[in-house]
Amino acid sequence: MTVAGIDIGGTKIAAGVVGPGARVRRPVLVPTQAREGFEVSFRQVLLAIEQALEEPGVAGIGICAPGPLNPKTGVVLNPPNLPGWRNVELARLVSERFALPCRVENDANAAGLAEYLFGAARGYSSVFYATLSTGIGAGIILDGKIYHGKNGAAAEGGHVTIDWKSGVICNCGTPGCIEALASGTAIEKRHGMTAEQLGRALAAGDARAAAILDEVAEMLAAWLGSVVSLLDPDIIVAGGGMSRIGEPLFARLRAWVPRRTINQHARHTPIVPAALAQHAGVLGAAAVMLA
Ligand SMILES: [Zn+2]
Repeated sequence: MTVAGIDIGGTKIAAGVVGPGARVRRPVLVPTQAREGFEVSFRQVLLAIEQALEEPGVAGIGICAPGPLNPKTGVVLNPPNLPGWRNVELARLVSERFALPCRVENDANAAGLAEYLFGAARGYSSVFYATLSTGIGAGIILDGKIYHGKNGAAAEGGHVTIDWKSGVICNCGTPGCIEALASGTAIEKRHGMTAEQLGRALAAGDARAAAILDEVAEMLAAWLGSVVSLLDPDIIVAGGGMSRIGEPLFARLRAWVPRRTINQHARHTPIVPAALAQHAGVLGAAAVMLA
């Protein structure tokens, strides 16, 4: 099947058509013009879809959009990155406009599904996907399907508390979420270093950078150890800017996650970097229609 994938970001909308083999055809980029409000940014979304649909044979439209949104109903609630979008029935509006089925999903769920279909988790059936970026997000694929929960609000992995006494209040209002302690933003606040700078310092053999990475990996291992205890996934895949630190981070996680779980099989659970980089957002959106 051939479907269109539309990845709505705060600054750009990426679109393309994905067929067998996960090749992206007719990739297009359209500015979101988010600050100009719903009328304008929604028109930009339609424009991106129209361009993608110039490719023949498209059977459906998958969209990933900034949350909060409800993937079960396709309603975008009120994302901070899209001013003026409030309870927008995105799936219904797009489906009616183009007379094609449409599904809407949040970024991390879609990215996890794309890794399952096309990337690092191919051949596995249950996947825990983590975005380690300026924030921390998660997607849970169970037996080949995204786990949505009752209200479509499941898999908010970044807001799992790992130290409620830390005194660091997360954006969500709760103290000690993993996102508040181990995201790129948290590292920068605490140590004055972005994830990219940390990666470069590590590569140069900087001892302070190694100590910072130890601290961050300890926290991520506590978090992922709990995930393994809870879900016993076939594989853990991590993407996002921090994952580009690469082997120094993944080697620590592989060594330490098994010490933070009761699951005796944990040392055999692969912990690997995401495989999809170019067009990852479009592939994620397309995956939502293909799975
Ligand atoms: Zn939180």
